[in-house]
Amino acid sequence: MIREGDRVAVALSGGKDSLTLLEILLRLQHRAPVEFTVCAFTVEQGKFLRPFEPLGSYLKDRGVDWTYHRDNPSLRLLDEQPGHGCDLCSRYRRRAVYQIVRGLKANVIAFGHTADDFCESFLRNSLFTGRISALPPVTWSRERDFRLIRPLVYVTEDLTGRFAESLGAPVIPCGCSQRTGTVRRTLRDLFAELEKDYPHLKETMLAAMGKIETSRLLDTRYLDLEGTAEQDPLAILGDG
Ligand code: SF4
Repeated sequence: MIREGDRVAVALSGGKDSLTLLEILLRLQHRAPVEFTVCAFTVEQGKFLRPFEPLGSYLKDRGVDWTYHRDNPSLRLLDEQPGHGCDLCSRYRRRAVYQIVRGLKANVIAFGHTADDFCESFLRNSLFTGRISALPPVTWSRERDFRLIRPLVYVTEDLTGRFAESLGAPVIPCGCSQRTGTVRRTLRDLFAELEKDYPHLKETMLAAMGKIETSRLLDTRYLDLEGTAEQDPLAILGDG
């Protein structure tokens, strides 16, 4: 994910996940086999539930090169279409992010999506959009000018919660995270219920995302229609 000479800009929402990400990258700088620098930025879209000043002081004390950007188009959007959905909000944010990161002269953008986000996204896409996909851990912006990374892919939110608390950082909640009746909330509740009996559910789902058996799905591009696949499909079932 991180390469020699990278300048990594952390997308800092002020929540437990992005604070964890920032801290681990700052620490990783001292022990990684490659040299890289870290900076952070926040896009204000009018959804934070607490003032950002305490976090600004925390970051200053921590010596973090941090940029706080009030995104006026997003704030106008909030006035004009208060009920707008995530698609529009994300589009506005993406535009602001690229603009900020360009100004920071960074070539990598790090996002704080966690194992929970990957699993939810996998389920959401399967159940609601008819696609088998989740989030890319490493990808590129459309113009290929920025590498986008999600280093917390194997880190669950119970860990980020405890880690952020141990830092004593002033966590800033976002209004959206408190919403009820959303697909996200439903999937979170579903996981919480299932995990009472199957505590390793997310680990298994993440492993599954790294082990795709394309010939056992319905995408005809990958079916063994000519019988040329090396393995006998029934052999997969094993002796049992
Ligand atoms: S959850 Fe809220 S902040 Fe996040 S994309 Fe949706 S509307 Fe925007």
